[in-house]
Amino acid sequence: MSTPTTTEYDLIVIGGGSGGLAGAFRAAEHGARVALLEPNLLGGTCVNVGCVPKKAMWLAAEVAGKLAMAPTLGFDVRPGALDWPEFIVHRERYIANIHASYRKRLDAAGIVVMPSHAHFIDSCTVGCGNGTQLRAPRILIATGGHPVRPPIPGAELGAVSDDFFQWRAAPPRVAIVGAGYIAVEMAGLLQALGSRVELFVRGSRLLKGFDHELAEQLAEDYRQAGIHLHCDYDVAAVEKDDAGIRVRSRKGEISEPFDALLFATGRAPNSERLQLDRVGIATDVGGHVAVDERHATNVEGIYAVGDITPNPPLTPVAIAAARRLMDRLFGGASALLYPRNIPTVVFSHPPIGQVGLTEVEAREVHGDAAVQVYRAGFRPMLHALADSPQRSLFKLVCVGEDRRVIGIHLLGEAVDEILQGFAVALKRGITLDDLRDTVAIHPTSAEEVVLMR
Ligand code: FAD
Ligand code: NDP
Repeated sequence: MSTPTTTEYDLIVIGGGSGGLAGAFRAAEHGARVALLEPNLLGGTCVNVGCVPKKAMWLAAEVAGKLAMAPTLGFDVRPGALDWPEFIVHRERYIANIHASYRKRLDAAGIVVMPSHAHFIDSCTVGCGNGTQLRAPRILIATGGHPVRPPIPGAELGAVSDDFFQWRAAPPRVAIVGAGYIAVEMAGLLQALGSRVELFVRGSRLLKGFDHELAEQLAEDYRQAGIHLHCDYDVAAVEKDDAGIRVRSRKGEISEPFDALLFATGRAPNSERLQLDRVGIATDVGGHVAVDERHATNVEGIYAVGDITPNPPLTPVAIAAARRLMDRLFGGASALLYPRNIPTVVFSHPPIGQVGLTEVEAREVHGDAAVQVYRAGFRPMLHALADSPQRSLFKLVCVGEDRRVIGIHLLGEAVDEILQGFAVALKRGITLDDLRDTVAIHPTSAEEVVLMR
């Protein structure tokens, strides 16, 4: 870490996660003198307790799934349990390399890094934990968020996603509360790695913001994999007895005992320690920093990106917003990031990905008469060969006489890799005929997108 030689900068970045680092690097590329404050590990949530270690565990679970299938296909292998401590050595080595790469790039860019929490003194001055004060005409807030437990009795008996990354074995019996990204991802990977998973969902379905048919198919895949889904189960309390941890519903139902309970019930922004009220920075009811389409707050010179704002809490969104902002502030550019048509993947087993409008949203926006939906349901080849029940379901949502594609929804093996290219096509305004005019790549799952009738 470099030692600060001056307290005057062109830009102060608060938070060294996805958005903060991207902003600091891009501003420095434009020649700005940048100071970055980060009290914890470089890389923030994504690198340390989010996307990266989660994807590592998902990949381990994918290998476990393939190993379980292998004997059916004639391989002379006996699937065994994952040695978590050994796998975690590989996971942490991968993450340590990312940290080292960030440190090298920060030094090379001349960015001053302060290992400290930041708080506002005034609209141009930021205070550090050790009393140092830094000044800059522009300040970027990129402090992200943290997982929250619901305010119910016994909630402290449950873990959150940050705790999951400290686990050193798959608990034999796990209860997961929630139905969003993290609940669905953790349920899939823990079941594949040997836990018996029960998912407690307060609504009637998984993944509310995703296509309902794909979510239903995924729920069926999860049931086939042995995950027990409790829908319309609103957890009101957590209790512990000699047998384990139990959840109690608002209706008074009491669950079986579990060895571990994981709350995947959303996240809250890290705004409390910033002392935003000293400068009058406006927040919404949830504590997110309010920004306009330029990512500017209501206070001149102060900006915010990433999970601290109400934008979709995804790493590429934080990065894209930060880069465009710095290009505007220091590079003379004018491009804005509009958080629409953002592709996203849930790393479930199998994964689910979407870009654009769901069928329901499209019908609301354009009316039933204008919307056409095309579907392809099939068994991916490996699963057909192994006679495993897992199925894929692809959907295209089109609008108008020219059948412009306004939504792509994919569930199945490899869709996490398939979606990105089709997201470019959707952004370019392609029609169903453009897809049909494209020669297929055979035999793949991806070809189903261009062969849809
Ligand atoms: P963060 O990455 O959280 O960084 C904020 C940084 O600010 C932190 O390092 C924090 O220490 C620091 N900070 C906080 N307060 C202060 C302060 N007062 N002063 C100085 N520094 C401070 N997104 C995807 O796109 N794909 C995925 O697969 C994916 N998987 C995820 C899995 C999990 C389990 C979780 C929890 C999230 C996942 N996400 C994923 C979301 C993604 O991690 C976040 O959207 C992204 O990290 C947000 O970046 P950020 O820069 O806004 O905040
Ligand atoms: P989500 O917002 O995705 O889901 C939260 C879930 O918790 C919802 O199902 C919600 O139910 C439920 N919930 C909230 N409060 C309660 C409660 N008191 N009791 C029971 N259930 C409750 O948040 P996550 O924590 O899963 O993830 C946070 C964000 O991180 C995501 O929105 C996503 O943007 C990002 N992320 C991205 C990933 C990726 O890109 N692959 C992976 C992981 C996270 P209801 O729907 O009824 O409100």
